[in-house]
Amino acid sequence: MREISCAALQAAVTELFLKANREIAPDIRQAMEAARDAETSPAARYALEQLVDNYDCAREDGLPICQDTGMAVLFAEVGQEVHFTGGQFTDAVNAGVREAYVRGLLRKSVVADPLFDRRNTLDNCPAIIHASIVPGDRVRLLAIAKGFGSENMSRVGMLTPSAGEQGVFIYIVETARLAGPNPCPPIVVGVGIGGDFEQAALMAKHATARPLGQRHPDPRYADLENRALDAINALGIGAAGYGGLTTVLNVAIESAPTHIAGLPVAVNICCHASRHAETTL
Ligand code: SF4
Repeated sequence: MREISCAALQAAVTELFLKANREIAPDIRQAMEAARDAETSPAARYALEQLVDNYDCAREDGLPICQDTGMAVLFAEVGQEVHFTGGQFTDAVNAGVREAYVRGLLRKSVVADPLFDRRNTLDNCPAIIHASIVPGDRVRLLAIAKGFGSENMSRVGMLTPSAGEQGVFIYIVETARLAGPNPCPPIVVGVGIGGDFEQAALMAKHATARPLGQRHPDPRYADLENRALDAINALGIGAAGYGGLTTVLNVAIESAPTHIAGLPVAVNICCHASRHAETTL
């Protein structure tokens, strides 16, 4: 059994959310620079220049990339040979999130009750934690700071098997079309196909953090990713909604076994501020 202290877990979570909010991932930055250099629409090119400059300002000055610093989402793959000491796993994660958002002067965006009181919890807690047990004695953490301008544009569709590949393709592209400029494009699109209602959504969220350009291992899904990417870019929504060539930076699909009677599809939209960071303990 390998022991990992909750203090170490808490510190790692804090650093992940500080980093995610201040430093855009290199692949996102490169894709945005490439979009900027290729853009033919002056308005969209100007928007892309501003967005790339904003990444630099955030990193150099230790400021958040966006004022919406997101809900704290943590995927944790916990090796079954790990024993956490000195506290509780969930408490440590939330303490890490609290420390990041308070010390880092990140906006606190969580309300305790979703419908009635809607009072801010003042520390961006609780985090949304998706923990799974895996072989080994390591803990892999993936932190996502998820803004809701884009989250609100996401959809889950319980399609039937007869919808087939074309039905899924239409659902993905239609979700981006309905979103229009609201999710702060260029967007990143995560798609979950299969499982059940909630597993599809979970896969879609996880897929938003996949490195750009990394395709689904099954060439049929990889082809669907590429076709959806081209079709969404052909919508012409463009950077910040100013038209132009680049509406989406990536479409990433995760798939899972499902029921004989179903074809769940979830599309989770992320903005250009696709803020995620990961580490292994
Ligand atoms: S959608 Fe993204 S870029 Fe737009 S306000 Fe929200 S977090 Fe910021």
